[in-house]
Amino acid sequence: MNTKELNDKYLLPTYARANVEFVSGNNATLEDLNGKKYIDFTSGIGVCSVGHANARVNEVLCSQLSKITHTSNLYNIAPQAKAAQKIVEASGYDMQCFFGNSGAEANEGAIKIARKWGGLDENGNDGEVKRYKIITLRHSFHGRTITTVKATGQESMHNYFGPFPDGFVYADNISHIEDLLDEHTCAVMIELVQGEGGVEPQDKDEVKALEKLLKDKGVLFIVDEVQTGGYRTGEFLASNVYDISPDIVTLAKGVGGGIPVGIVMTSLKGVLSAGDHGSTFGGNYLSSSAVCEVLEILNGLKSEGKLQDTIEYFNTKLEIFYMSNQKFFTSKVGIGLMCGLRVLDAQTLTNIINNAREAGVMVLKAGRNTLRFLPPLTITKEEIDEGFKALNSAMSRV
Ligand SMILES: *Cc1c(COP(=O)(O)O)cnc(C)c1O
Repeated sequence: MNTKELNDKYLLPTYARANVEFVSGNNATLEDLNGKKYIDFTSGIGVCSVGHANARVNEVLCSQLSKITHTSNLYNIAPQAKAAQKIVEASGYDMQCFFGNSGAEANEGAIKIARKWGGLDENGNDGEVKRYKIITLRHSFHGRTITTVKATGQESMHNYFGPFPDGFVYADNISHIEDLLDEHTCAVMIELVQGEGGVEPQDKDEVKALEKLLKDKGVLFIVDEVQTGGYRTGEFLASNVYDISPDIVTLAKGVGGGIPVGIVMTSLKGVLSAGDHGSTFGGNYLSSSAVCEVLEILNGLKSEGKLQDTIEYFNTKLEIFYMSNQKFFTSKVGIGLMCGLRVLDAQTLTNIINNAREAGVMVLKAGRNTLRFLPPLTITKEEIDEGFKALNSAMSRV
């Protein structure tokens, strides 16, 4: 049986997969079973931040695997401690980290910290009023576990799986949040640039005003940086771009470069104590040594100015592509290397993505009408040129 046949027989049908099978990659270039090459403007949905088959990461991983892979969190783990140091230092915040394995798990951790904090009074004893409500935004995406899917502000994802945990409230937009705050609210959780919802950057002044409002009201500010974190926006965190100081930040996708990892970091260092939270796999030698090397590479790209060059080059090419295909697109959106073009209608968007794949370039859908670009942060100018060449040729057949 080929892979498609094996899928159909043995895998639950939870994904609408394109029938393409990659066998190898090199930076932003993928190769399929038939030897056909593709430019990857998706990074496996923002994960392969340092490209495919990154030699530096692979060398670190192979060397780590030849020594030790996993011991559990009952013992000290040197690369986990180093990865935490690197993350905290890159963020510029006075925080501590917890390591899990996915974005949803990172958000679960954030929710647990906020809920425990919300049950305590200012002396750390059981509070009189339990603050448990968490306000999130419509069109947000926070994960697929029972709790994080309920935190996700998309009613269409709340079918079948109830009863869900209580306490999630959805604001139509940032200015609507104030109306929903009450004595039971412990936190607001947002993406600064909505990813799955359709590459939707929030307004900077509104975010700053929200930060102030939450500080004044004593409500925690959680920023879900699962997609934006790890330099995707040009800074280590989108929170750095927006110049805010959240109480809790979550990370995953790009910081492991393809090795599963999820991190919740917070300035509320004393809230969780031993036994409150945990993960068997989280932060083991394999994933945390990947994080260390990925951050080494990305810190270098950032400090040498190469990341900024790539962002400018990619966005110039995207602008040209947008201008020369105006009949399909209504606007160009995004920040850094998290970019999108709004497409006239959902069918045209599907056609573009399928034609692009045929033409040798992988692009993504976000929300109902956004063509999304999340290229590796290490993509070369040649790869960018080749990708847009393929994309242009795809448009003539849409
Ligand atoms: C992808 C994503 C998640 C979920 O991450 P998983 O690793 O799939 O659990 C959560 N929040 C945001 C903003 C995401 O983009």
